[in-house]
Amino acid sequence: MTSENRPIAVIGAGIVGIATAYYLARNHSRTNITLVDQFQPMSFTSAQSGNNFRNWWPHSAMVSLTNRSIDLMEQISRDTDNRIGMTRRGYVVATREQNIDTLVSQLRSGLGDESDTLVRYHDQAEAPRYFGPSGSDCSLDVNGVDILCHYDLIRKHFPHYDPEVQTVVHIRRGGEINSQQLATYMLEYLKSVGAKRLMGQVREINPGNNYQIEIDTGSGSVEVVAGQIVNAAGPFAGEIAKWIDVELPIINVFQQKIAFEDHLMAVPRNQPFSIDLDRQQIDWSDSERSALRDDPQFARFAGDMPGGTHCRPEGGDGGKWIKLGWAYNEEAALDIDDQPLDAHFPEIVLRGAARLNPGLRSYYGRLPQKCHHYGGWYSMTEENWPLIGGMGPEGAFMNCAMSGFGTMTACASGELCAATICEARLPSYAEAFSLARYEDLTQIDKLRASNKGIL
Ligand SMILES: Cc1cc2nc3c(=O)[nH]c(=O)nc-3n(C[C@H](O)[C@H](O)[C@H](O)COP(=O)(O)OP(=O)(O)OC[C@H]3O[C@@H](n4cnc5c(N)ncnc54)[C@H](O)[C@@H]3O)c2cc1C
Repeated sequence: MTSENRPIAVIGAGIVGIATAYYLARNHSRTNITLVDQFQPMSFTSAQSGNNFRNWWPHSAMVSLTNRSIDLMEQISRDTDNRIGMTRRGYVVATREQNIDTLVSQLRSGLGDESDTLVRYHDQAEAPRYFGPSGSDCSLDVNGVDILCHYDLIRKHFPHYDPEVQTVVHIRRGGEINSQQLATYMLEYLKSVGAKRLMGQVREINPGNNYQIEIDTGSGSVEVVAGQIVNAAGPFAGEIAKWIDVELPIINVFQQKIAFEDHLMAVPRNQPFSIDLDRQQIDWSDSERSALRDDPQFARFAGDMPGGTHCRPEGGDGGKWIKLGWAYNEEAALDIDDQPLDAHFPEIVLRGAARLNPGLRSYYGRLPQKCHHYGGWYSMTEENWPLIGGMGPEGAFMNCAMSGFGTMTACASGELCAATICEARLPSYAEAFSLARYEDLTQIDKLRASNKGIL
């Protein structure tokens, strides 16, 4: 029976658990929901999100999932007079290479049949069909990808970038949202239809005819009995699954960011989220490099580093802050209770990002005192696709492994998970994100060996 309002417990009140509960109630009238979290909603991984979104992925299933999520966010933006602060400046990927065939073929395979019309080349100094990144208006209806491959054109629109940049790829369906507002909007709806919130830590789950969930509220133990459960526990999803004897293929990788007031105005306020694609040697002085080489813990920062630094203004056109990130860490953590912030990260990411934005060099060795250094977990599968759908035992569902894309995909993954629970019609990408994908080992090996779209 899918229509009856059976009790359901959603474990995790990050953006993914909240969105799942929201779509259960909104699309399927399932309001007998208990949303459980040990902390305040949106205060764990979801609080660290850069709040960026994009529909650029190397595989069409991820493009479909994010496109659907952006559709849903746009709908909420329209319904709420853009309370969720959605902007649409796009993502820019910049490289010093002229030949970007590999990147373009990934873009094309992600965009599918429409790629011929969606990929636009601009190889002259003037490009009347190219709309630069001037406005942050979320209603801007430019889609697809603009590829700028004329030097003067790049200098005209991105004069502050490294002069060595030869190609700029501007992904248009991308921008920012205010995910805290999105979650608040959804929580208000859930409250209005009678869904409950419970603050406490899930300590044990006993399956049977129903799931009996033991929750430590700090002032005692409470048992919640639910016919169905959703594991939306972010980096703890693997632990939750173990309570019902399920092993999920998830690892947790720590990633850091910094944010600071750009009082020297090194980064123009209209700069889109900008990624430097190229590998690099960080811009240290000779003595700094040799000191790093001598220290086994930091020697890697003296050598060849991967691409992927990113930089964007934070806080709108009138703001002053900027955010920098570089997801170079690939090491899976064994213990996620400790958050291993590295005191050297701010200077490392600053110098890495200064390669594309040379204006940032003015901050070398003198980042503002109020530089905010933070981090969180990319909880992910090896192939970097999420896990959405049935978790194995009857009545158990998962919506997790959201890596660095959980904010942008939350609406679509919440909608998909809710539809799976309610046995409703599923979109074409449903199977790709279910555990069924692991039955095709050749496909999984191929995915793991290809570009995973991590930024
Ligand atoms: C630095 C950083 C930057 C990012 N930037 C972006 C970005 O720009 N765009 C984007 O789309 N994504 C981004 N992400 C990814 C995004 O933030 C995550 O994918 C998303 O927040 C995951 O949400 P979640 O609800 O799955 O997990 P969480 O927010 O971690 O929520 C899980 C919740 O489960 C609760 N929980 C776990 N175990 C228990 C238990 N036993 N009992 C009770 N409660 C429990 C936790 O307390 C937690 O609140 C970024 C991530 C990081 C770390």
